[in-house]
Order: sequence, then C-alpha cells, then structure tokens
Amino acid sequence: MPVYQFIIFLFILIPLSLPLYAGDGSAVRLWLLETGRGTTREAFTIEGGSLIQTYHLIYGAVLVQHGRDAFLFDSGLGRQIDEQFDAEMPWWAAPLFRYEKGVSVFDQLKADSTLPRPNRIYLSHSHWDHASGLPDFPDLEVWVAREERNFILHSGPPRVFKSQTGLASTRWRFIPFEQKDFHGFHSSYDLYGDSSVVWVWMGGHTPGSVGMYVRAENGRRYFFPGDVVWNYDQITQNHEKAWLSRMLADEDPEQVRRMIDVMHQWLQQDPALQIVPAHDQRIWQKVKSDE
Ligand SMILES: [Zn+2]
Repeated sequence: MPVYQFIIFLFILIPLSLPLYAGDGSAVRLWLLETGRGTTREAFTIEGGSLIQTYHLIYGAVLVQHGRDAFLFDSGLGRQIDEQFDAEMPWWAAPLFRYEKGVSVFDQLKADSTLPRPNRIYLSHSHWDHASGLPDFPDLEVWVAREERNFILHSGPPRVFKSQTGLASTRWRFIPFEQKDFHGFHSSYDLYGDSSVVWVWMGGHTPGSVGMYVRAENGRRYFFPGDVVWNYDQITQNHEKAWLSRMLADEDPEQVRRMIDVMHQWLQQDPALQIVPAHDQRIWQKVKSDE
C-alpha cells in the first residue's frame, strides 16, 4: 500500500478505534474495527436500487468486551488477504469483489494496547471477506452455527477459501442454540445469561448465518445481521437484495426473505434498535457519530 493511502487509513482508523462506551469492567463495550473498503452500485445491493448511485462498503470486524471476557465477531480482511484472494478467487469473479485493503484486526490490536485481547472468534458466516483474518489468530477457537461447518466442508471459491477455513489447526466450536424465541428468531443463545449478548440463527445467506444482538451498558442496543442484508434500506423498506445478488450470494433466498421480514417487524416495534449490516458504510459511520 502506498504511504499516502496508509496515512489516510490511519486517519480513518484512529477515530473508528475509539471505544463506544466508557464504564466499569463488567460493562459491554464494542469496537467497530474497519479493515478495508470498497464500492459497488446501489442496484447490486437492493431490489430497485439505483444503477448510478454508489454504495460504499466496509469490510470489518466487531470487538466485544463483557467484563473480563472479549471476543471478535468476524475477522475482517486479514493480513494475508491479497495472497488469499489472488490464489483462490476465480478470475471471472475477481472484478465483482475488488476491495481496498485497510489495517487488519491483528495489526490494530498490535498497535493499540488499550483494546481488549479477544480469546475466540465468532463468524457471522464463512465467506472469504469475513473469515480472511482467521489465519492471523491460529490459537483462537472459531465458533459457528453447526450448519456452517458442513457448508464450509462442501463449499469453495468464490465464496469460501481453503486458505482461511481449511486450516487443519483450527479448533471449531458450535454455538449451542436453543429453541427459544428472540424477537421473532426461533433459535437463540444468550451468551452470558444476562441477555446482554444474544446469538440468533438466521441461515439463508449461508446455512449457518448468525446474527448478534448486543445491549450496551449505556442502554443502546445493536443487532449485527452479517450479510443477511447488505444495505440497511432493505430492512426499513422490507426489500430483498437485487435479483442477481440473491442468485450469486444467497444459498436460500426464501429464508433470507423471512429474516428481512423479522428484522423489519422488530425495527417497527423498537425504532431505537440500531441494526448494523456488516458492509453498510453509512451505518458504521452513523453508529460512530451517535456516540
Ligand atoms: Zn460479506
């Protein structure tokens, strides 16, 4: 990366790395860690979207701290993303998935000793832009929905890369979902038993796609649906991804449709809830400026 780009990224990174919450050691705190950016046409992200309008993407991870515990939700674009992409992304798909590499989660943690050290990683799903950082953390367990592990074993490029999720050393763990309703999601798991962090099974985008609900100490509540939606407007307008994107990216578009409906209803009942799709740069910036 040229020096000037690195400086620009640092400029973006420093404010984005500030903790969202201050408080005592048992409070839930979040950091949105940006690891890269990209652009596409809005029409590619939402049904009826504009072909002219640019949609700005974030590639990132969320660092969550609960008391003395800390974990990552997704791993962002890792240190080896260029090598992974060059080796595994098929030539015909590469132009669709171009990215600007930022600073990896590993390097952000190395550069900032005030950030808590994560002791495990949860994946919203196993696509390459979410699992790229796994090889940077070979000692950390990787937690997924059970269905996602089967998907990983039977999938491949352009969605899933062996260089990320095919490492023999990875210790896979499964989120122990229970048949407990959570705001319209049928399977959920209350991670700490205090309803501050709750996993929900979503499926659809991949068979084991999961969402993460977080109630922060200051009363703000967030829901991270991974890539079940790409564009926040899909939730407010109750719209699917564009047809081509559904065909290319979603394993089960009908299930994705149901999940959009659940989020749409939830947001109508609870307008203060902040839903944060994994790639929507506007929402990432809004979450920052709200604090
Ligand atoms: Zn993604």
